Amino acid sequence: MIQAPKGTFDVLPEDAARRELLEGHAKKILGAAGYRRIETPTFEATELFARGVGEATDIVQKEMYTFDDGGGRSLTLRPEGTAPICRAYIEHGMHKLPQPVKLWYLGSYYRAEAPQKGRYRQFWQVGAEVVGSATPETDAELIVLLADLLEAAGVTRTRLRLSSLGTPETRAEYRSELVAYLRAHESLLSDEVASRIELNPLRAFDATDPGTRGVMHGAPKLLDRLAADDADHFAAVRALLDDAGVAYELDPTLVRGLDYYTRTVFEFSSDALGAQSGVGGGGRYDRLIEQLDGPPTPASGWAAGIERILLASAQPPPAAELVDLFVALAKPDGARAAFELSREARRAGLQAQQELGGRSLKGQLRHADRIGARYVAIVGDGVSGGDGLVSLKNMESGEQRETTAGEVIPTILRGRRL
Ligand code: AMP
Repeated sequence: MIQAPKGTFDVLPEDAARRELLEGHAKKILGAAGYRRIETPTFEATELFARGVGEATDIVQKEMYTFDDGGGRSLTLRPEGTAPICRAYIEHGMHKLPQPVKLWYLGSYYRAEAPQKGRYRQFWQVGAEVVGSATPETDAELIVLLADLLEAAGVTRTRLRLSSLGTPETRAEYRSELVAYLRAHESLLSDEVASRIELNPLRAFDATDPGTRGVMHGAPKLLDRLAADDADHFAAVRALLDDAGVAYELDPTLVRGLDYYTRTVFEFSSDALGAQSGVGGGGRYDRLIEQLDGPPTPASGWAAGIERILLASAQPPPAAELVDLFVALAKPDGARAAFELSREARRAGLQAQQELGGRSLKGQLRHADRIGARYVAIVGDGVSGGDGLVSLKNMESGEQRETTAGEVIPTILRGRRL
């Protein structure tokens, strides 16, 4: 038996309703702030992620689905959405549009990670990006919008961690300081951290082993080394969040798994989730567009995982859609009339279904009951189509009466208004 690949899942019809609802919340909340939808391809040139996400990151080193397209080009299933959006911004000359350009997206992403609850190899993200603004208001707006989305989605027990990474220059200086510090304490570090001191010293803050954690406790913190204008920017973001009543914890060790961040970084998590508690996060990436050969353009954004939001949400699935009408066949010669009647009913805005299962009349009525149909129109008893006679049964009251096909839709519409 062929099964869905490891780390992937089917979105079954019963799962789709909550996803649609969530998409509706995103559209409403982001649309109200002037964000417009964008969708980029599910695969891109591998180089985009190598350059955009960072060679030293776990994503690029271990987690990309990379393949040759048969023509000697290396393509990669997108592991994240920001680099593709920057690519699109540059490719379509969006710097000529009024700035900033505010975009949102919702689609599937791919990372070859070890699957566990809340961590998949194909997952969905909703994201928002503001390209072309350097202001702290942009960062605060983005954070508030994600907070609003998580609240609308019913995500419980959320926490927001916030930090600033400064500029690449500050980071470079800080990095040297941190590398020297890690070297001085190398014997206490885990082998993995010790072997990556040069490659990615910041990741030492992510380590879980007691030895490394002990060392990191006393490590220099980037937040204490910010340049004056970066510190001002960060203070302004915090003041705006304070005004908005959005609670956050300052976390100077917040390290995100992507290299492109500058200044503000943040992450929402939910204590309703297990080990994979990150719900969504992001930050400012002022150098990324330039790094991808675009004009120097400041930008900021976030992405949140659809599956994690749904896992952390206490909201029940929305009620199933009402079936207004089920068109049953008393005799097979009513098939054309039934086909026509159900089509007319849908055109009139009703949710209408026709018998497709070849059941007996009794079986059809049982089926109509099971799908929760409000009315059943029985056609086929001497009905030749057009405005022939129909038996219309109100499934709630059980009342059944003879009428014409032309009367079925008005009767149901009248009943609907009550
Ligand atoms: P990131 O792009 O790594 O910052 O991830 C943003 C959000 O996407 C995370 O907070 C998760 O909610 C979600 N996410 C990331 N990786 C996965 C994954 N492998 N499976 C499910 N959700 C994920």
